[in-house]
Amino acid sequence: MKENIVIIGGGIAGMTAAKQLKALGYTPIIIEQKDHLGGHVAQWYKLFPDMSPAADVVNNLKKELKDVNVFLDTKVLDWKKTLSGEYELTLSNGVNIRTKAVLVASGFRLFAAEKKEEYGYGVYDHVITNADLEQWFGGKKDNRIPQNPKVIGFVHCVGSRDLKAGNSQCSKVCCTTAIKQAIEMKERFPQAEIYCFYMDLRLFGKKYEDFYINAQQNYGVHFVRGRVSEVGENIDGRVQVKAEDTLMGKPIKVQLDLLVLMSGMVCNVENQDWARTLHLDIDNDGFLKSADNVAHIVESNQKGIFYAGACTGTKTVPETLAEANAAALEIHNYLSND
Ligand code: SF4
Repeated sequence: MKENIVIIGGGIAGMTAAKQLKALGYTPIIIEQKDHLGGHVAQWYKLFPDMSPAADVVNNLKKELKDVNVFLDTKVLDWKKTLSGEYELTLSNGVNIRTKAVLVASGFRLFAAEKKEEYGYGVYDHVITNADLEQWFGGKKDNRIPQNPKVIGFVHCVGSRDLKAGNSQCSKVCCTTAIKQAIEMKERFPQAEIYCFYMDLRLFGKKYEDFYINAQQNYGVHFVRGRVSEVGENIDGRVQVKAEDTLMGKPIKVQLDLLVLMSGMVCNVENQDWARTLHLDIDNDGFLKSADNVAHIVESNQKGIFYAGACTGTKTVPETLAEANAAALEIHNYLSND
């Protein structure tokens, strides 16, 4: 066996990289703060555009990691560079590790929807987020979702492309997620009218446009271009949404049984403290900054520290998996030339 490679983060990026590093003969060690592997994907139900079960991605990776060291419920408490150029990490479980290469795959956070007070998350009875809806699809009980909703709305760009929310970036995945979830709701509630309130639709990936056309033509999802200006709750508990339909040029008002907020991807602020101590660059959006955004996305500005997945910015699942494979190979090249 070749040397230890520490991977910070046990989401799909860290797991994929661990699988590749193991295949290359290294000893990957995954450090994960939570009590399970799989990150956000482990909380998701189906993935667009194929509607494949998210659990399959996580479970297939888990099978590959049977003999890989995984520390769950574990944090990196201290991290320093030694004079020999190695990294020494002290973990919250009392373990110390020395390594020549560290892969940071510490992911992102979902925007906390309650920060957008005007949408009433946590206040109104029938306002939920995209993540809540995925968990309900997966079988978790949620009393906020009525038994037979007749009108359902989705608000795009919640906490994304929003300077007031401190995040000017597009989250890249939530337009397509809204379409996916609209289709899933329509399949469960064929009589329901579904509205997506969007600023513009960003559907750049393979098959995503087909997915949108399918939602319109075969599921009758209504797409309303315009920002939601106000959300309120009626005396009967229904949600009232006011928006400006910018294509029609007039204000609209809709009564809904359920409102779903598409919370965007934001940086994992916990990255920033240790990034500063290691003199890692942080981008102006708070994500870790790659050596450059074209040819060296998986490299940091420090020798021996590499990145994979959404710790450097918003990514789709396929992009994350591809980047994790690339990072494993880059680490191998780095150590081979060391
Ligand atoms: S992907 Fe769509 S919903 Fe998400 S931030 Fe971008 S434009 Fe808004």
